Amino acid sequence: MLGIAAYDLAMVAKARRSAKKGTWMHADSEAVRLAVYQQLAERGTAPSTVTLAEQFNVAVPDVAAALRDLEHERHLVLGGDGAVELAHPFATRDFGFAVKSDRTLWWGGCAWDAFAIPHLVPGISSALVATTCPACSTAHAWNVHVDVPPPGEQVAHFLMPMAHVWDDVVHACEHQRIFCDEACVYDWLARTGNERGAVFSLEQLWRLASGWYEGRLDRGYERREPAQAAAYFASAGLVGPFWGNEDLQST
Ligand SMILES: [Zn+2]
Ligand SMILES: [Zn+2]
Repeated sequence: MLGIAAYDLAMVAKARRSAKKGTWMHADSEAVRLAVYQQLAERGTAPSTVTLAEQFNVAVPDVAAALRDLEHERHLVLGGDGAVELAHPFATRDFGFAVKSDRTLWWGGCAWDAFAIPHLVPGISSALVATTCPACSTAHAWNVHVDVPPPGEQVAHFLMPMAHVWDDVVHACEHQRIFCDEACVYDWLARTGNERGAVFSLEQLWRLASGWYEGRLDRGYERREPAQAAAYFASAGLVGPFWGNEDLQST
């Protein structure tokens, strides 16, 4: 009897520890993350909460709780209806970027995400990325390959400094766009009353996107710590207070 009571107490203590850490008790949230990412990579759509519940043979509220945990850990972003809105670099609605291979059509979550998709999805070596300039609505498209950056004089403009992206990640992604040129960025800032963020070339955007999401389709993926992110930005030639790495040299 004593043994069983001690065991029960140990289990309660363990459950309390888990609850404190915010971990999910009923299924493997990493498995749910992988299921969401794998379907997005393969088909360009996210599985519904009901589909995930059937797949893992658990109740819908348990899947919903797992998704909220994943959102808390910044692995994905849920919409008001509890469905996946962003699982970077994939989105489930228009964020300004269409991305296609010869077999799949995706929504890119932003300029960075759209350029990252051909690097992340296995079995494709390039993707067509299409968008419109937020200032003048001119259409732009590039064949984005994994080996060399696409040619083009257009510029990327990111509005939110990296330290503030997760204050409102949907707003941040909606404002990581590609413009015709500096003049269009200037026009758009003047019209919308926004402060200029960071403006940089397509080549730098491509370098930023090329390795950022590496490993995200694999089990056990861990997001970069801020210091690792700062070093990565510098390796893409992006240095300054906007990137949180003004102490580093670009390479
Ligand atoms: Zn994004
Ligand atoms: Zn323009």
